[in-house]
Amino acid sequence: MLVESCPQKTWQHVTAARQRGLLTGCVPTMGALHQGHVSLMQRARTECGYVTATIFVNPTQFGPQEDFSKYPRTLQADLQLCEQAGVDLVFTPQADQMYVADAETTVQVGRLTTVLEGAHRPGHFDGVTTVVAKLLMITQPHKAYFGQKDFQQQLVVRRMVRDLNIPVEIVTCPIIREPDGLAMSSRNRYLSVAERQTAVALSRALRLAADLCSQPAAVPAEVERQMRQMLLQTPGLELQYAVLADPDTLQPLPERVLSGARAVGLIAARVGSTRLIDNLLLSFG
Ligand code: AMP
Repeated sequence: MLVESCPQKTWQHVTAARQRGLLTGCVPTMGALHQGHVSLMQRARTECGYVTATIFVNPTQFGPQEDFSKYPRTLQADLQLCEQAGVDLVFTPQADQMYVADAETTVQVGRLTTVLEGAHRPGHFDGVTTVVAKLLMITQPHKAYFGQKDFQQQLVVRRMVRDLNIPVEIVTCPIIREPDGLAMSSRNRYLSVAERQTAVALSRALRLAADLCSQPAAVPAEVERQMRQMLLQTPGLELQYAVLADPDTLQPLPERVLSGARAVGLIAARVGSTRLIDNLLLSFG
């Protein structure tokens, strides 16, 4: 496995792989890797002849009050996981290798970035789309792998790729969870033992929503109400949003939906000082 911090050399390695006729895959991450990240790498390994993982804690997607400086950095353990997952090349740039000081270009997706995470984290998606566009340019993947864990992010990246004719297929992979249902996240390591117990409420509320939706004549607003009520009654949890939305546009659902209608339940909450998100695809009974 090669480890490379230079964008140009990374581009050259992938170019050589493409010239050998290999299908190239890329798994962008911020490191502090866990089994969720590993599942993306394994999927890429089964589908591609040459797999690049990127590890970069991207400063531009963190707000001024967010956890950029304390975000966990565990490079040696990360490289071991990449090696075990069969990654060919790990791209680990420093911030000054990704951004020139006087950069004047960003990539911005429209309406899809104004709701939910975009509303709670101003500027976040501009940072994400700009760095993902750069990473795709550098690592030249035929396929790029993202987790459903960041549901809005994969929609935004799909929209960017479509709108800018970036020649890459976006593959969205299922959420990997702990045995009790908590979605794996690099930020879970911030949680105290008590907070870890509280955090399971997010996935429980989504399971409740799934059960309620599956009942005949379920009404979206009532499902949302019960999901919120459960979260608001959880001590130590500060709810930011809990909504049902259209899984393609993230717009609110109509008052009444037909049997078989698809939706996504999305939750963001603080547990102590840790901000957690989770989601679940739903279908109405
Ligand atoms: P991050 O390092 O948090 O930027 O995540 C890198 C990629 O891993 C993103 O596409 C995430 O959606 C994905 N990811 C994070 N957690 C999980 C999980 N529990 N299951 C599946 N994918 C995940």
